[in-house]
Amino acid sequence: MLLTLDSMQKNKVNNYDCLHFIDGKYQASKNEKTFQNINPATEEVIGTVAEGGKSEIDRAVKAARRALNGPWKNMTSAERAAIIRRIGDIILARKEELAMLETLDTGKPLWLSNATDIPRSAYNFHFFADYIRSLGTEAYEMDDIAINYAVRRPVGVVGLINPWNLPLLLLTWKLAPCLAAGNTAVIKPAELTPLTATLLGEICQEAGVPDGVVNIVHGFGPDSAGSALTEHPDVDAISFTGETTTGKVIMRAASETLKKLSYELGGKNPNIIFADADVDEVIETTLKSSFINQGEVCLCGSRIYVERPIYEKFLEKFVNKTKELKVGDPFDPSSKVGALVSEEHYERVNSYIELAKEEGGEILAGGKRPEGIEKGYYLEPTIIVGLDRSCRVVKEEIFGPVVTVIPFDSEEEVLEQANDTHYGLSATIWTNDLRRAHRVAGQIEAGIVWVNTWFLRDLRTPFGGMKQSGIGREGGVHSFEFYSELKNICIKL
Ligand code: NAD
Repeated sequence: MLLTLDSMQKNKVNNYDCLHFIDGKYQASKNEKTFQNINPATEEVIGTVAEGGKSEIDRAVKAARRALNGPWKNMTSAERAAIIRRIGDIILARKEELAMLETLDTGKPLWLSNATDIPRSAYNFHFFADYIRSLGTEAYEMDDIAINYAVRRPVGVVGLINPWNLPLLLLTWKLAPCLAAGNTAVIKPAELTPLTATLLGEICQEAGVPDGVVNIVHGFGPDSAGSALTEHPDVDAISFTGETTTGKVIMRAASETLKKLSYELGGKNPNIIFADADVDEVIETTLKSSFINQGEVCLCGSRIYVERPIYEKFLEKFVNKTKELKVGDPFDPSSKVGALVSEEHYERVNSYIELAKEEGGEILAGGKRPEGIEKGYYLEPTIIVGLDRSCRVVKEEIFGPVVTVIPFDSEEEVLEQANDTHYGLSATIWTNDLRRAHRVAGQIEAGIVWVNTWFLRDLRTPFGGMKQSGIGREGGVHSFEFYSELKNICIKL
């Protein structure tokens, strides 16, 4: 029998089966189809997941449309904001449980789920609930002839399609502004990480979200819940985070009904280290920007460029510190790196390590499974040198704990290399020369540039990628530019 997480807990059932959450009710697929959910740290099946398709998506979209024109619309924005805040409160109150589920699904260390994924998910709701209450619009007077003012209206029913690397954090980064702007949502969680999304249905209900406002349909992408959502004629917009290649497929599907699109896609981000930077500080942060979350963060700086005078010194220290990172059981607090998300992804990342060898690269750290671990998709943090920009390992997104380190001799040269990619998500620059920092940051083709830091986030700032790393921006007012329609009203005086 399929159980919801809530009833599972009440009945102390020791498995993690996931149902869809449609119109305020947990339910199986009409055809009872399911797929297995595997814990990547142990390779054990931890439960089954209902697999949705056209029928479930259609029910979810209909429920979302009813709720959009019903209870959600009839609330004041203050009432909606209070409910959204409450979702954040409940997430915080259930932090331990959510962190455990996130770690079971992804293989990431539990301390990381506890320190980042879950509190940040709660903060997404708190932030956007507050932000919407203070958000203004434009007004233009035409002397005494007329006045123009803009009002914000919801876009409608929005499809939210999510990746597996930061499952709840990225889902809530979309859902919070989507709800704050008065829309209703149909969520398609990543098939590899359904647990926290499933629990979110129950949390929304407890917070007072009316039935049908938030719907969750599990499944895969092509010929499954994902494509059914992007093809559905009554979905007004799609917010998608995932691979660039998937983005292209979704754009084709969404073009049939001209859906509004927001895209956060892949990256191959440069981490540029000039010789005047403080090497110890650089290494401390570069360990994180390379290997945190097993390197499965779209913002990870996987192409490291080091100015020649400090290249050897940097490399020696970086390699030594990397070898000290403990890889292992994500529930062990001393593990710094957990398991990769799935067997398929593990094979893919390993194939890039083999390719690096074929392309003439030298592996200075990692490149293999940690010794003594038989089960689970573990890989040691890997540092590769000896490759140049013509190599696929330097060009393609690997999305694992694998970095390349390349020396450079001039600012012009490193800029040319850094920009030699069709990605443009983020970049990091290390220098104590303020003028150079400003100059290089201005010329890097990336939507987000950090100087002497990494992953420092202010949710009011524009977040997103240039080139094939994305379309549009999220964060602060930028999220509301996507999740609302601005309507200009011109009154003749
Ligand atoms: P993915 O593109 O394989 O899948 C993402 C989601 O899209 C999943 O829910 C999947 O089921 C769905 N999907 C797949 N094919 C689909 C289709 N044809 N129609 C509709 N839905 C479909 O990506 P992933 O492997 O889950 O995530 C890793 C990728 O996400 C990396 O490229 C990473 O850089 C990117 N990412 C980007 C950001 C960002 O903010 N820019 C953040 C996190 C991850």
